[in-house]
Amino acid sequence: MSQSTAVLVINTVSILTWYLVLCGIIWWVTHHWRREQWSLRKIIQRYPRGGQILREIAFSVLSSLIFGCACLLLWWCGQQGWNQLHWDFHRYGLAWHLVCLVVTFFLWDAWFYWTHRAMHSRRLFRLFHRTHHQSPNPTPFTAYSLDPLEALTYAVFLPLVSFLYPIHPAVYAAFMATQFGVNLMIHSGFELFPGKFAESRWNWLLSSATSHVMHHQYGSGNYGFCFQFWDRLMGTCHPDYDTKLAQNCRVNTVETLLPGQPESEMTDAHPRHSSA
Ligand SMILES: [Zn+2]
Ligand SMILES: [Zn+2]
Repeated sequence: MSQSTAVLVINTVSILTWYLVLCGIIWWVTHHWRREQWSLRKIIQRYPRGGQILREIAFSVLSSLIFGCACLLLWWCGQQGWNQLHWDFHRYGLAWHLVCLVVTFFLWDAWFYWTHRAMHSRRLFRLFHRTHHQSPNPTPFTAYSLDPLEALTYAVFLPLVSFLYPIHPAVYAAFMATQFGVNLMIHSGFELFPGKFAESRWNWLLSSATSHVMHHQYGSGNYGFCFQFWDRLMGTCHPDYDTKLAQNCRVNTVETLLPGQPESEMTDAHPRHSSA
């Protein structure tokens, strides 16, 4: 096996394995094992059918292959000496790595916001983004359920960034792990932020599961990924977002989740429900 093939296979298999294992665990805990406890946090009060999950997994396999190809491209450009990928961790110091990580996150969110918003134009939607929106009630498996062109749009981000500033593969790995965690959180279908988040200043900056689930539910608005500030600055934040976020975060207060709490207090915002 050539070195290029090994890079492609190792990256594709790693991405897909992590994806399936973590999504599977989240799915099993929230939808089966601890379904009753997690039902209070469910943003849309229905559970998706099995057919949706199978479709999402099929498209996720294809997306993982495209992300694996992007890793190969990144590595190959490094081998040619074209980009600024470097393997000497001590060359620039820890502070530089942290700055790289933060800058990469802000660039990624800008890339995601503007490409995602463009994909919602009438011309591009069918080609780039229709598959992702076939899941109006998202699950963790929706995260990589993408049309190939959409996956490619996101996949080229890191190879492009590698031309901008010196960056170590460990920073890429940290970025990928954190970005993956955020991706699973916003597609999980459950609001995790505590009760006070909606009233705090962090609410202006950070996105939430409620934000992205509303994007899936209504099909427009709330285009950001990690951050909410692009939507707030550009006027694309859904008008009901802050109200819904406050409702969904309210169930995450300690008092509400304590066992023995009167049913009426727990179910104001989230009536109990049965599966669809
Ligand atoms: Zn969208
Ligand atoms: Zn989504």
